[in-house]
Amino acid sequence: MTESIQPIDILLVEDNPGDIALTQEALQESKIYNRLHVVCDGEQAMAFLRGQNGFQNAPRPDLILLDLNLPRRNGREILQEIKQDRSLKAIPVVVLTTSNAEKDIVSSYELHANCYVSKPVDLDKFFQAIRSIEQFWFTIVKLPPAHYSGSAVG
Ligand SMILES: [Mg+2]
Repeated sequence: MTESIQPIDILLVEDNPGDIALTQEALQESKIYNRLHVVCDGEQAMAFLRGQNGFQNAPRPDLILLDLNLPRRNGREILQEIKQDRSLKAIPVVVLTTSNAEKDIVSSYELHANCYVSKPVDLDKFFQAIRSIEQFWFTIVKLPPAHYSGSAVG
């Protein structure tokens, strides 16, 4: 066994309780040792990522699942802020939203989303989508090393 016992940390930024519950369920059943952290609005998301306002002990997530329509600060603002911050921009961001609108897809990629996924309406398909995202990002993709916390330049 060469597998690390370090869990992977996933930050879910989502305000819909049903989607939160389904994501938790999908990841609980995973063979990949993960910890899912949930915040429900844009301000909390940035507080989590910056270790502020009650999130002092928050880990740096290995992956962010980001809804676009969020209270307080929307997902586009959060995406932009993450990708403009040299200490955060290497963290992959999966935009996960109900929107199929071309403008949302285009603007997300322009803001450097790592991928864009429309939430399936069907519960089983939603569940599968979460599992597929996790499988892809944690068994196929090579991620920055766990100790990496941002470039000193650029
Ligand atoms: Mg929402």
